[in-house]
Amino acid sequence: MTKHISVKQQAETHLLEAAKEFQKCMQCGKCRSVCPVFKEMGNELYVARGKNKLAEKLVSGDIQITQRVKDAVNECLNCKTCSANCPAGVSPEHVVLRLRWYITTQEGLGFFKALIFRQLVWRKWPITLGALLIGVAQRALFGIGPKNPVRYLFPLFGFSKRRFFPQMALRSAQSQYPEVIPAKNGPAKGRIGYFTGCAGNLIYTNVVKSVVDILTGYGYEVVIPKKQKCNGTPVLANGDYEGAKMLMEHNFNLFQQYDLDAIVVACSSCGMALKKEIKLFIDDSRELQAFTKKVYDINEFIEKNLDIKEEDLGRLPYKVSYHDPCHMVRGQGISEQPRKLLKMIPGVEFKEMKDAAVCCGSAGSYCITHYDTAIKINNHKVKNIQDAEVDYVATGCPTCVMHIQDNLQQHESGEKVRFVVEMLADSLRAGKTI
Ligand code: SF4
Ligand code: SF4
Repeated sequence: MTKHISVKQQAETHLLEAAKEFQKCMQCGKCRSVCPVFKEMGNELYVARGKNKLAEKLVSGDIQITQRVKDAVNECLNCKTCSANCPAGVSPEHVVLRLRWYITTQEGLGFFKALIFRQLVWRKWPITLGALLIGVAQRALFGIGPKNPVRYLFPLFGFSKRRFFPQMALRSAQSQYPEVIPAKNGPAKGRIGYFTGCAGNLIYTNVVKSVVDILTGYGYEVVIPKKQKCNGTPVLANGDYEGAKMLMEHNFNLFQQYDLDAIVVACSSCGMALKKEIKLFIDDSRELQAFTKKVYDINEFIEKNLDIKEEDLGRLPYKVSYHDPCHMVRGQGISEQPRKLLKMIPGVEFKEMKDAAVCCGSAGSYCITHYDTAIKINNHKVKNIQDAEVDYVATGCPTCVMHIQDNLQQHESGEKVRFVVEMLADSLRAGKTI
């Protein structure tokens, strides 16, 4: 008979796992030199080495959960820069996620987080309706320009009044398509599942259109399962392991029901969740291995599988740089493919920016809960973009797009941030291929 393990017992086990990382730590301090948060805050507790120590001291009972402990645990972007540079192979971001889970099981999630996360888990419509209402309000209140007095209301909702938000879509992407979208120009050469992610569905709907147009235009049938839900990463990052588990299991079971050759995502965090984080929640099996092997970032899929010829592409006369999202470059090891796609486009002058792979500070909900630090971190990114002298910054993560565009506008800088796949689709449309 399987012994029932309570959530608290599971969290304690994970805390013990987190503390084990401390044993590996050589105290070399390398993480101090690379951590974007430490660079801005200069607090040892906010760096990986300090967080490892916190886990060890919580396990030994030397410290209790205090506000200082919670602040330190929450000061992390999950950017994976420390683990990518740690000579001892310590994985501090996993320490942080486990600490957050442990603290959540001891103290609860808090009213607003619990309310939002449970909607993500149980039903989609309140989030979809909320996004629509915000979209209507954004348009009715004459946009969200710098002089709009509506900005003074932002702090009531916990947002800085300096902030520029993207416009929410008036119609979700998923509602614009049937569940199965046939290949254009003949029989399908494959059946591709598309995990749109919440941002693609509710904000960046042009990205969904770009993915669908490119894949169907190159002969694939595209399936967008209507019942897909959030990938679970934002929930996991806030310490709600139970919620994350439910979401990961739901999406895993749902996508299994379609006979898919591959599953694509156009969001770096969705990709990392479906390829890697899902393994934290679902027992290893042949089905899980087959599932994770099928998941591709859209840049990766296009570069590997689509035979895009020079004559397919129309000219886009722009100077373009690329920002590496953390969950793409360190989370999935993807950096060459999006650059290759951009360089293929006729007229594009690709200019590499300094520190392209350094975190932009967005980190999902971090740029909501820790906006001032997130902007300080992003100021370096904006400076590097300005120095690159480009028209566009291309990337592959919705929160990077949101955060970099916000700060560029605050600096009254004219560069626009777009997804690589949107620019590629524009070029293919200009070439009358899709
Ligand atoms: S880089 Fe790794 S080994 Fe060195 S102090 Fe940081 S966590 Fe410890
Ligand atoms: S994941 Fe990033 S922000 Fe978090 S401790 Fe490591 S380097 Fe710092």
